[in-house]
Amino acid sequence: MAGQAGHNFTKFVQWGRNIVAVGRNYRDHCAELGNAVPIKPMLFFKPSSSYLEEGCGPILIPRGCKSCHHEVELGIVIGTQCRDVAEEDVMSRVAGYALALDMTARDFQEEAKKNGAPWSLAKGFDTALPVSRFLSTEELKDPTAIKMWCKVNEEMRQDGTTTDMVFSIPYLISYISQYFTLHPGDLVLTGTPAGVGPVQPGDVISAGLGDLLTMKFNVAQRE
Ligand code: MG
Repeated sequence: MAGQAGHNFTKFVQWGRNIVAVGRNYRDHCAELGNAVPIKPMLFFKPSSSYLEEGCGPILIPRGCKSCHHEVELGIVIGTQCRDVAEEDVMSRVAGYALALDMTARDFQEEAKKNGAPWSLAKGFDTALPVSRFLSTEELKDPTAIKMWCKVNEEMRQDGTTTDMVFSIPYLISYISQYFTLHPGDLVLTGTPAGVGPVQPGDVISAGLGDLLTMKFNVAQRE
């Protein structure tokens, strides 16, 4: 799919710049980690170096990590620049979607939370962002009511729907655009439903979005 400026969004992973992630955007997931439901979006960044495309190798648990969790999320691929965009104008600026895993070194994150330190290491290590192929807005017409699941070794761990988001996609992108300009190819991760949990070297994570796509990644230890 070519965008207005000739962007090839099917390859957004290779040229997109920023990845803005939203934490705690599903009530059941807030509850399982003992966090309050936020009154405004909680944002963090993942680096583009953390992308991992399907078929390009395993998810690598970072050195020293004892608890690396899967978080399945719907990613929004930005189509045209968003700076101070009103909620009603957001969807016309979306190029498409991707299914993503916001891999999280939970033990690193817990230590960071305790120390009031940033989550960069916990969320941004190499391979911390496995993603599916690009889905156009024609393929996924209604992102507000799509099922999303994640299995580890064929065991269902997460089985949610985007209907349960605390903050809607238009609200999130409008809010983010008040602080960070979003560019074509940027990705916004919209949070994870309940059921997050640890993976071990040798595990296989599979995930799916409605009946539109599935993806699969092996898990290994970074030597
Ligand atoms: Mg997440």
